[in-house]
Amino acid sequence: MLCYADLKMPVNRQDYTITKPRIIPRAEHCVSRGDISEAALKVLYRLHKAGYAAYLVGGGVRDLLLGKNPKDFDIATDATPEELRKLFRNCRLIGRRFRLAHIHFGREIIEVATFRGPHGQGEGEGISEEGMILRDNVYGSLEEDAWRRDFTVNALYYNIADYSLVDYTGGLDDIQAGVLRVIGDARTRILEDPVRMLRAARFAAKLNFQLEPGLREVIHELADRLDDVPPARLFDEVLKLFHAGYAQHSYEVLRDLDLFGYLFAQTDDLLAEGDAYTDAFIRQSLINTDTRIHSGKGVNPAFLFAALLWGPVRDEAQLLQEEGMTELQALQTAGNDIIAAQLEQVMIPKRFSFPTREIWTSQARLPRRNGKRASRLMEQPRFRACYDFLLLRCQIGEPLHELCNWWTRFQEVGEEERSIMLRQLGGGKPRSRRHRKSAKAPAGE
Ligand code: ATP
Ligand code: MG
Repeated sequence: MLCYADLKMPVNRQDYTITKPRIIPRAEHCVSRGDISEAALKVLYRLHKAGYAAYLVGGGVRDLLLGKNPKDFDIATDATPEELRKLFRNCRLIGRRFRLAHIHFGREIIEVATFRGPHGQGEGEGISEEGMILRDNVYGSLEEDAWRRDFTVNALYYNIADYSLVDYTGGLDDIQAGVLRVIGDARTRILEDPVRMLRAARFAAKLNFQLEPGLREVIHELADRLDDVPPARLFDEVLKLFHAGYAQHSYEVLRDLDLFGYLFAQTDDLLAEGDAYTDAFIRQSLINTDTRIHSGKGVNPAFLFAALLWGPVRDEAQLLQEEGMTELQALQTAGNDIIAAQLEQVMIPKRFSFPTREIWTSQARLPRRNGKRASRLMEQPRFRACYDFLLLRCQIGEPLHELCNWWTRFQEVGEEERSIMLRQLGGGKPRSRRHRKSAKAPAGE
């Protein structure tokens, strides 16, 4: 039975430079239909019955071999996107760079890709002067598809026709050895798609794998190619790195490979200066994120970006306050500046960047609880995130215990107790409108 623990080593690595795949029959491996989602099995069987080749590939196979729960199931086939559309009513074709079919089953989406062929010979492709692939829609055979994938451990196929595993690139050995190896020449493959560097960091973190010898050096050499990647794609990668349950480890690997600055330059500058607060803050926030994910709780990109960018926002806000701004004004201005600069690197959709700023400015609002303020704050839809952010600051040692305890209690108790808590705050008289104007409070206060 072939599984993570007992995969057999090949006689000779060079065996894999020949094009004969290693095929492991069902009786000799541990990938079981019982562990594959019903939706993915439906797609595989429908394709197979219609006479197409149908394989589970990528993270689904890799993670099952490693005894992990796959995040999603990707399928590869020789059916073209148009044929897929005819075969599946619940199918949407997406993507320009890679044309893919998304087959919808309620909330679950099964990604189906047509086998890709080698580029450099036909329509449907596009390569920039730097060797970067712009479009990649040349179709090919199963074998060609295998060699076009990024890492050997991601190029294992589970054949629905006979439940065997197919390995062209030596992925099974690398799974056993815990090695992340680029398929083909690492330099060329990273130039084709610099995001593969972030994927390398991500899989090293997720799987706890070592990079193949020499890959670290190639990454150091080519890291600045990430500057050419569209910010929208980097947004997706950031979520994959930090919202999949291994965020803390992703952060460590990204820092270790000097890649973090290609996603968060402003934060990275502070870390390079030895800003221990920012490092501790990010680590704690990522530990909390991982814990939430593992206990099935939701996570929000707005909170993630608020945490990853808090260091620079806090820094700039402090300077602005020294120059005479109120804490709230300073956080508003710094928040706008830091987000504007961040958008040049990683796109943050407005539906997230607005709440991100709100989380920051709330840090000046949460201490001001007199009169109706506390109740009004609590009614705001994003109050919980603002409060959690305050707790996080307290968790890493800011002197906010009293304030945090107050807010925790205020949420737990009934109306009567709340009035008592507000009375105990003292100084409860709200300032008059005129007074407020002369204090030059910003709009919305
Ligand atoms: P997970 O879903 O657990 O994050 P995954 O390996 O399934 O990991 P996906 O991003 O879902 O990763 O991609 C599915 C598969 O598609 C990969 O396993 C790989 O074979 C191939 N792939 C994805 N992105 C690239 C890329 N940039 N270059 C080459 N192959 C890729
Ligand atoms: Mg996947």
